[in-house]
Amino acid sequence: MLRSSLIFGTAMAVTCALAVTPVRADTLVTQGHGFKLTTQFGVSALSPDRPYTVTFASADLKKRYTPHLTKAVAQLRAAGLNMAVGGVEEVAGSACPPQGHVHYTEEHRPMGRGGYSRGAPCPHPADGVAAGGVVSMDSEYFDGSWYISPYKLRNTFVHEMLHVLGLDHPNLDLNRNGIVETYECVATPSGVKPVMCSPNGGRRSSEAGTLTVHDLDGIEALLANGRALGVR
Ligand SMILES: [Zn+2]
Repeated sequence: MLRSSLIFGTAMAVTCALAVTPVRADTLVTQGHGFKLTTQFGVSALSPDRPYTVTFASADLKKRYTPHLTKAVAQLRAAGLNMAVGGVEEVAGSACPPQGHVHYTEEHRPMGRGGYSRGAPCPHPADGVAAGGVVSMDSEYFDGSWYISPYKLRNTFVHEMLHVLGLDHPNLDLNRNGIVETYECVATPSGVKPVMCSPNGGRRSSEAGTLTVHDLDGIEALLANGRALGVR
């Protein structure tokens, strides 16, 4: 399962209004059909020019994790993001990695509960432009102590990366019962929910680990905001 930050997303909403430059805030797209930006962390844009690089805490993680990420990274590049899979680096504790790095590490229950992984952007980057962050994958998936299906695992890798790049859960109260529930997300005509849907979304089978049209709309919104802000 993926982290569920629905409650925390709501709780942090007040911070959002303070994080975005007031003059420009109303010109930025922060959510749309099937996507929502991580404005509660002050992230509302992606740079169309700066490099974004996936890095790993060890050579072993790079070897094991890279196959889960290649399709998504290719999609992000095709969408206009200057992104690539990089190498191994050390990032101390919960510190932010170097500029633009999406740093993968692995620990036992990073969210404090079984089966949940964590992905978070470095909070409140300059101009609201995503500056990288850390993904902590739950080690339980890999030591056999928590079963996760192969497609969910692959989608989890991508889900957490997209958190770092500035996408939040797009769950919403579709059935108007007053509660935003788990899995309550818009879907494509073929029934595929966004990878960012909480706690799980995305395609199954061989197409797992790819961004849906809704996730790509979110990435495009982040890039459009970057262009609107004039960032490089
Ligand atoms: Zn999530």
